[in-house]
Amino acid sequence: MAARDDKTQDPVLREQLLLTRRGQAYFSRKLHELSDAEFDEPSALAGWTRRHLIAHVGLNARALTNLTEWATTGVETPMYCSPTQRNEDIEFSATLPVQALRNLSDHAAIHLNVEWRDLEPDAWSHVIRTAQGREVPVSETIWMRAREVWIHAVDLDNGGSFADFPAGFVDRLLVDVLGAWDKRRDAESLPSFVLAPSDRAEFVTTGSAASSVTLRGKAADLAAWATGRGGAGIAADAGDIPAAPRWL
Ligand code: ZN
Repeated sequence: MAARDDKTQDPVLREQLLLTRRGQAYFSRKLHELSDAEFDEPSALAGWTRRHLIAHVGLNARALTNLTEWATTGVETPMYCSPTQRNEDIEFSATLPVQALRNLSDHAAIHLNVEWRDLEPDAWSHVIRTAQGREVPVSETIWMRAREVWIHAVDLDNGGSFADFPAGFVDRLLVDVLGAWDKRRDAESLPSFVLAPSDRAEFVTTGSAASSVTLRGKAADLAAWATGRGGAGIAADAGDIPAAPRWL
C-alpha cells in the first residue's frame, strides 16, 4: 500500500495515513500467519472466534469506506444501516469459507486505502457522522481505522503485542482512552488514574489528582491495560491493579 500517491499533501494527514497503513500491514501479517483451521479458534475477545474478529475488521473497512465516499460525493452514507444490521453482518460473514474471509479482509482494506488516496485535499475536512453519532471531519476515519487494525491484530491472539506498536500510536492511544474516561467521569463516577510510563518523560493523568491510583509500567503495557487488554507488566503504587473502565 504505497503512500506516495495520496492527493493530500498535508504532512499530518500523510503521517497518520502511514501509521494506519503500517497497522493494516501488521494486522494482515498476523492474519496470514493463521492456518485455515486456526480461524475457528477463539480470539482474545470474549464470545468471538477469530472468524468473527476478521469479519468485523473487514466490515469496518467497508464502513469507513462509506464515510470516505460520503465526503467525496456529499451523499450521506452511514457506516452501518443499524447496530442490528452491523451485528448480523458480522455473524453472517463469520460463517464464510476461510478463503472468502481472507479476501474480505484484503479487498476491503485495499478499497478503503484507494478511497483515502484519491480523496481531494479539500474533502478531508468534510463532516461525516460515525456509528456512535459523533460528527467529525472524515480525516477522523484514519485514526478510527488505526485503532481497529493495530489492536485487533493483538486480539487475533497469535503473537501480536502492544510492544510492537509505534511509540506515537501508543501515546495517542493513551490520550484517546483517558479522554474518553474524562468525558464520562461524572456520569459514570469513573475512578481517577495517574499513568506513569517508565519509558516516557511525562505522566498521563485522568480525573482528580487527590484520589488517583498510580500505575507504573511501560507505555505499551499501560495502553494494553487502558484498552481492557489485561494488566501484564504493570504495577500499582498501592493495592491491586484495578480493572480499567470501558473505553468505547
Ligand atoms: Zn473493532
